[in-house]
Amino acid sequence: MIISVASGKGGVGKTSVAVNLAIATGKARILDCDVEEPNVNIFFGMDLKKVKDANVLVPSIDKQKCTLCGECAKACRYNALAMLPKDVMLFPELCHGCGLCKMVCKFNAIEEIPRKIGEIYHGSKDGIELYQGLLNIGEAMATPVIKEVKKFANGNAIIDAPPGNACPMIEAIDGSDFVILVTEPTPFGLHDLKIAVSIVRKFKIPFGVIINKDGIGDESVDEFCKKERIKVLMRIPHDDEIARYYSKGIPFVTKMDEWKEKFIKLYEEIKDEANSNSKR
Ligand code: SF4
Ligand code: SF4
Repeated sequence: MIISVASGKGGVGKTSVAVNLAIATGKARILDCDVEEPNVNIFFGMDLKKVKDANVLVPSIDKQKCTLCGECAKACRYNALAMLPKDVMLFPELCHGCGLCKMVCKFNAIEEIPRKIGEIYHGSKDGIELYQGLLNIGEAMATPVIKEVKKFANGNAIIDAPPGNACPMIEAIDGSDFVILVTEPTPFGLHDLKIAVSIVRKFKIPFGVIINKDGIGDESVDEFCKKERIKVLMRIPHDDEIARYYSKGIPFVTKMDEWKEKFIKLYEEIKDEANSNSKR
């Protein structure tokens, strides 16, 4: 089973939920898909080793064959190719590696070559395997790196999705059996939760909400969940002890047995929900 932990808004405790769930249940594989700022390993302190590069395939134009017809530049919806009087110019950072330019070139002048945009790392500790993607500084496209990290899911993993509701989040949750949406009970949390809910619903993935820092804000998240019939899977209170462990990078399930039990129960609940959804 693949469970993604996502949040429309950053800083609401998404990574902490993913890590505590992995540790409590002994689920052996966690994928850090927050490739612009991976921070799962803060909780583990593993010695990570690079396992591979993350590449995107970009066009390389054979000047001998190119007739400067301009079809490739016309077809590229990302404006990664520009026609000059005597050349075709590629802006590699804009290229999404979609391959369309190669398809439209009637003169077979385009070859695809890999361009490195990030790296994938692996580490393990206490039976937990971590795969982490890291996007190169200055690169704009996180999704190819996320795709590479997800190849290590092996059908059973917890994915720490990137914050926000844009393409990287969508890439991370796509194909999951269940999505946990972590939020905080504030108007900002609600605003981003609403968008995240609409995305997950479009993908028809079963999901539920965890309210972190419960007690700090207002009732609006609760009211929204009730109105939309969204299950609140767990409430993590705004608690000094939890906050203290968090600030030290210690997963609180390793110190608070009652929370370990709660996360195990949560996992069982999610498993039942995901199973019954797959039979529908
Ligand atoms: S489509 Fe092919 S031939 Fe035409 S400009 Fe592009 S690379 Fe050159
Ligand atoms: S691969 Fe796609 S994004 Fe890249 S230059 Fe070609 S058409 Fe544009």
